[in-house]
This record gives sequence, C-alpha cells and structure tokens, in this order.
Amino acid sequence: MLTIAIDMDEVIADAAKKLEAWYQRDYGRVLTETELYGKNLDEAVPSLHAGVFHQYANTPGFFRDLEMMPCADSILEQINKSYGLYLVSAAMEFPNSLKDKFDWIEEKLPFITWKQICLCGSKSIIQTDIMIDDRIRNFRSFKGRKILYSAHHNMLETGYERVNNWREIEEKLL
Ligand SMILES: [Mg+2]
Repeated sequence: MLTIAIDMDEVIADAAKKLEAWYQRDYGRVLTETELYGKNLDEAVPSLHAGVFHQYANTPGFFRDLEMMPCADSILEQINKSYGLYLVSAAMEFPNSLKDKFDWIEEKLPFITWKQICLCGSKSIIQTDIMIDDRIRNFRSFKGRKILYSAHHNMLETGYERVNNWREIEEKLL
C-alpha cells in the first residue's frame, strides 16, 4: 500500500478564508483574488499590517472551526481505504493550534486515528510515497511524488504536478 502525506491548511482546511475574513473585520478591506494572485497574505497588505496574520493564526481557537475544502472529507475517507494516509501539518509554527487541529480532525474526519496525525515542525522528515501540499518549501527535500495543491500564493509556481481541487485529487489517486 502506498503511503501519502496530506497537508492540512489550504489543502484540507480553508485557513486563508478565515484569515482574510478577520483582516476584513479589523481593517475593513476585502483582499481580492487579483491582489492575492502569486502572493502570501502578508505580501498583499501594507507592510504595517504584515504581522497580523501570524497573530491571527496563533490565536487559541483560530483553527478549531475552519471550513472543510469542498469534498475533502468524503475523498479523504476513500483515500484512507486505499493508501496509508497521514495528515501532516507544520503546526509548531503556531503552537496554540495543536489542540484545535487535533479536535478539528477528530470532529470532522472521525475515520482518522491519532497514529495518522503528524503535527510537526519541519516536514523534511516525511518519507511517504506521495505528498500533497500547497507550499513548495515542503517539497524541497521530499523524494516521493509531489502534488501541489493550488492556493493564491503558489499560482506562479511552475514545474510541479498540480491539482486545483479535491475532485482532481480523486481523479489522480482513486
Ligand atoms: Mg498548507
């Protein structure tokens, strides 16, 4: 059975949507798709505001109620039957997220056991056969098949196998 590591934020859970909503709440500005194309959130706002997204993401509770990416739960359930599935998140970047992420998985993806959850620092230790992630930095030392999940910040990256949504993951892997 092939093993697969799947990232959480911007792949399974829509963290960017909530970060953008909180930015709108605090600064009254809606960030458009055009403004965000090829950029991280902190690059798309005035430099004075660049630090707020890190603050938001480290707020206890932030990750507890994120929206599921469309169809991610049902397709993950199928993948879980055919692959050795691991959810891998560099959650140590936001230490307050750890319990929220665990509780979120337990609630929304009850077929995932604790042994399949890797909340870590660097993903350079991951040696699965396949990795799905929105951050190309996580592919640098990865030796398996790399699948880039489209997000506003990676739209200018070329040279990677890319998926735009979970239906495309389903087509490729199931
Ligand atoms: Mg991610």
